[in-house]
Amino acid sequence: MTGVRKPYITPYAEESVELPLTFERGRLSYRDAVPGEWMFGALWARCGAVRDGTVLWAMVHTLRQRRCMLKKLCRVCGRSATDPATGRLWWVTPAPVTGMTWPTVGPPICRDHVTEALTSCPRLRRGSPAVYTVGDYTPIGILANLYTHDGQVTETRHQVAIGLDDTHLLPYALATQLIVSLHDLSPKTLRRR
Ligand SMILES: [Zn+2]
Repeated sequence: MTGVRKPYITPYAEESVELPLTFERGRLSYRDAVPGEWMFGALWARCGAVRDGTVLWAMVHTLRQRRCMLKKLCRVCGRSATDPATGRLWWVTPAPVTGMTWPTVGPPICRDHVTEALTSCPRLRRGSPAVYTVGDYTPIGILANLYTHDGQVTETRHQVAIGLDDTHLLPYALATQLIVSLHDLSPKTLRRR
């Protein structure tokens, strides 16, 4: 895979770390947790930050995905995805958007990398991707694994979408990606460069 850019949100095997999960005061925790490991009411999956080694192409680095969403950064290069000319964000969706809003776990893409993503991302090439500029978006949920505690910590559900208002589920969730809702979408057609 030499010559192919390794996207900012793609993880490496060397970034996988042990998750010393436990339950403490009725909520999922790490045995050595620090307060910054919770956000939006859920515990977030730990991961390393070496960005080197064996690429896990099909997976997403939890903390870089969240960082892109919170700071409006490009999922390919990790730099700002805001178009300096318009102040709007570039976004590629795997299918055409229907409706006024659109929930997604895929972070924005800067203008420079929209074409690259369309031609080199296998997931987008398989579908019928659409390009938009987006005026605004809001965090609405998490993609998470749910755990229970009956003597030992056991995963009960894998990769389910949980709303940020599902407060009865958040204490049992290990968040792996932030879900946002896109608003103010404007379709774009790009000329091939
Ligand atoms: Zn970029």
